[in-house]
Amino acid sequence: MNQAPFRRREFLAAAAALAAVPFLGAPSIARAASPFVLPPLPYGDAALEPVISARTIGFHYGKHHKAYVDNLNKLVAGTDMAEMSLEKAILATAGVPEKAGVFNNAAQVWNHTFYWAGMKANGGGKPRGALAKKIDAAFGGYDAMRRELAAAAGGQFGSGWAWLVMDGGKLKVMKTGNAENPLAKGMKPLLTIDVWEHAYYLDYQNRRADYVNAVLDKLVNWDFAAENLARA
Ligand code: MN
Repeated sequence: MNQAPFRRREFLAAAAALAAVPFLGAPSIARAASPFVLPPLPYGDAALEPVISARTIGFHYGKHHKAYVDNLNKLVAGTDMAEMSLEKAILATAGVPEKAGVFNNAAQVWNHTFYWAGMKANGGGKPRGALAKKIDAAFGGYDAMRRELAAAAGGQFGSGWAWLVMDGGKLKVMKTGNAENPLAKGMKPLLTIDVWEHAYYLDYQNRRADYVNAVLDKLVNWDFAAENLARA
């Protein structure tokens, strides 16, 4: 079993889908024709309404996320990367200019799967337990961490992501452009917010801050972040 960044129950509504998910350790037989698959959403299309509409999910998950999977499969077909786990493909191509296409699509597949898992209906609020203690130690409290995360999401110029990560045992906030992700920098992501315009434009148009605040206050799945911390 490859190292799994997500637990099965976070994503897999159907047990049958498990064997086809490469980063959960797929048997090679399931990967021969189409090595990477679009993981099922951990909730229905309308579950995050009214913060994120079913229409946005339909395009974002059904078109954008799927397109990254399809493009990745086209790019790795017949190469040794077709046999790699998603994480391995990301690490093998990060910072390699001639592999930028594979990196961008592989990282976007991973980033989106991680983003969906980091939200849930009736999420938000404040984290508890070990994660809350870590946040207090690193930021001086939840409010300061929330401000920093919202500022990273709002301050990312152009397309990208805001992240809460473990970096060498220290909790920190960061932002990345385009497909870049903290795995490629040796960090352990706990949570991410997609700030590409396709994540919010249908619902919020140019009001990125409104989208970010609503996600933080109403959708963030702190249990998922806490599980990632426990594994970091
Ligand atoms: Mn996106």
